[in-house]
Amino acid sequence: MKRLHGVSLEQKRRLVTELPGPRSQELMERKLAAVAGGVGTTMPVFAARAGGGIVLDVDGNQLIDLGSGIAVTTVGATAPRVVAAVTEQVSAFTHTCFMVTPYDGYVAVAEALNRVTPGGHEKRSVLFNSGAEAVENAVKIARAYTGRNAVVVFDHAYHGRTNLTMAMTAKSMPYKHGFGPFAPEVYRAPLSYPFRDGGLDGRVAAARAIDQIEKQIGADTLAALVIEPIQGEGGFIEPAPGFLPALAAWCRANGVVFVADEVQTGFARTGHMFACDSEGVVPDLIVTAKGIAGGLPLSAVTGRAEIMNAPHSGGLGGTYGGNPLACAAALAAIETIEADGLTARAREIETLVKTRLHKIQAADGRLGDVRGRGAMLAVELVRDGSGEPDPRLARDISRYAHQRGVIVLTCGTYGNVLRFLPPLSISDELLDDAFDVLAAAFEETR
Ligand SMILES: *Cc1c(COP(=O)(O)O)cnc(C)c1O
Repeated sequence: MKRLHGVSLEQKRRLVTELPGPRSQELMERKLAAVAGGVGTTMPVFAARAGGGIVLDVDGNQLIDLGSGIAVTTVGATAPRVVAAVTEQVSAFTHTCFMVTPYDGYVAVAEALNRVTPGGHEKRSVLFNSGAEAVENAVKIARAYTGRNAVVVFDHAYHGRTNLTMAMTAKSMPYKHGFGPFAPEVYRAPLSYPFRDGGLDGRVAAARAIDQIEKQIGADTLAALVIEPIQGEGGFIEPAPGFLPALAAWCRANGVVFVADEVQTGFARTGHMFACDSEGVVPDLIVTAKGIAGGLPLSAVTGRAEIMNAPHSGGLGGTYGGNPLACAAALAAIETIEADGLTARAREIETLVKTRLHKIQAADGRLGDVRGRGAMLAVELVRDGSGEPDPRLARDISRYAHQRGVIVLTCGTYGNVLRFLPPLSISDELLDDAFDVLAAAFEETR
């Protein structure tokens, strides 16, 4: 029994009702009657409590969490330091607005981000609420600095749901369909996607993208190149080695701001503090959110001081940006990652999960590609013996897992990728149990 800050939540999967249970069903009816239909849910199960690697639902079922609320609760959903820091802050003050009467938590988070992000250069940070808001602001900052307008993004990219970030996101359904017109001056370049581009060398793939950018946009009109070092919603696509360094070098040579969208990959998720670290790539600007604050809403743009200081005073901000509760949580989450060695824990999880997935793959041709790093892992499903995407299998496997109390998410342009994003506070026993369920799911769907 693991003690979670006064709340004991046994770290074991347990089903006491069918899923969804009667209370979840009741709540789902209320949801349908009260909440806008555009908000979907992965599972029709309502949470009551969460911590370690478990989500307890309102019917008393204990589910294994392989999603972390989409890569957010990296330190756990009730990490003791986060709970303590937020509890203390909430009774001091909930809000003053940093643009009215500032407070030290915001400054301390900026200092921490300047320290932990890639590169030893002079940096500045600015805080916001959501990943999309931070991506938008990175573009604003790059435009102010360069005096240029155009932005290049990549195939399969996901950058958010606001107007500018919808334009930057690749996939129409469900993110963009019916929601246009979209922001102008956003251009898309080809990605390195080893499983689907014949294993093209990373430098060759970068040269192909750069050639298209130079021909179709022109480097001298380009403010920023924005890229996820490992794509999230697009399918956990890891570009071939050499791709990111070549793009970063081209940006430097052409006065283009290189922006790493590490909203999903950041904060120990990939076995490094940031995914850029694994190839020594130093972005000009890095966008963070999701795992930054143990579940509280916070996002940031961090980068080279001369770029970050380009917008005029008053040009950046927002009522809630860098909320004091979120800042207290972020400081506690970063301390937890560093003090508890969570980058190393992410690499242990990679070994355990990849071993399990490779074992299933060895006997099953429908597992086309096992990939990812740290605790950001995925399997791309295909029709046996071909490369043809199989979204139905992804849906069947995830449904099977959901019914047995394992929270798994899907992703990918073709909807055929199962992704695994466990909190780093999960135990090996829970991971083993979850992958026993997934192995059985592959057996059952043969
Ligand atoms: C989730 C995500 C976003 C958007 O973040 P929100 O907080 O949902 O606005 C942007 N970029 C990437 C890579 C993401 O994974």
